[in-house]
Amino acid sequence: MEKLGRHASINGEVMAVENAKVHILTPALKYASAVFEGLRAYWNADDEALYAFRLDDHVGRLFDGMKVLRFETDATPGQVRDWTLALLRTNAHRETIHFRILAYIDGHGMQGSRGPVSFGITSTIAPRTPAFRDGYRLGVTSWLRISDAVMPPRVKCIANYQNGRLAIMEAEEAGYDYPLFLTVAGKVSETAGSCIFIVKNGKVITPDVTSDILESITRDCVLRIARDAMGLEVVERPLDRTEIYLADEAFIAGSHQEIRPVISLDKIRIGTGERGPLVEDLQNRYIDIVENRTPSQPGWCTAV
Ligand code: PMP
Repeated sequence: MEKLGRHASINGEVMAVENAKVHILTPALKYASAVFEGLRAYWNADDEALYAFRLDDHVGRLFDGMKVLRFETDATPGQVRDWTLALLRTNAHRETIHFRILAYIDGHGMQGSRGPVSFGITSTIAPRTPAFRDGYRLGVTSWLRISDAVMPPRVKCIANYQNGRLAIMEAEEAGYDYPLFLTVAGKVSETAGSCIFIVKNGKVITPDVTSDILESITRDCVLRIARDAMGLEVVERPLDRTEIYLADEAFIAGSHQEIRPVISLDKIRIGTGERGPLVEDLQNRYIDIVENRTPSQPGWCTAV
């Protein structure tokens, strides 16, 4: 069970988390009419400060998701950002957290209802786990990734997560740590909650944004760090499953999972079968950025 922040926010009103409730007939619950963002805020003990990572980019993606799903709201990204920061200040976390911003169709309308839209914000304590160093053993799942022609993975709609949930349960039953999806066309897509990368002959390769992936903000960070700070060639293109078997290193990336090595796929060892040097270097650079220990792009670290 996750350890929750004590307060939650609904439409800017901060309340005890137990009181943050929805109606049983809300379209969010009846039809999964909801879209969300999950992101972290990092505690930097030297600065005695909490920094929300790429908050504006996440709020921007939330509004993109609402546009695709035709949610109708007068709320602005600036308001949602302010509500988020107000909640995090009230919860007064002094450790690294993960928080969710959920935009959902409220009221008790029918399947095609476009509003009213409410915004629910919650936070949880999210320490880094040993998988950060030890890595993941992935297995390709028999469930295919939902496609843009079915239910767009580019939109972080809560309904999409049933596709991932089926895959996670199958992976666990088969003895893997986590599932890897193929697209309907049989190319590599992403995991249930992160993007996949390989390292081959010094190049960093990842499926392109038409491979039925979420356009991940951590993926964007990885590509920029690899290209701009490490001087590596980065390639976004369709990726075959067997390219992962033959990679020198592999890893996944997402706001919650951060950067984690992938040490095997389908029980086939990748590289040495342990965290590789390039992944470790990338992880260290990423952590320095998110904890605001090294200069990054303007607006990436917002002091709470
Ligand atoms: N793919 C899926 C399916 C996800 O749920 C996530 C986590 N939000 C990601 C990729 C990684 O996205 P981000 O780096 O923006 O968190």
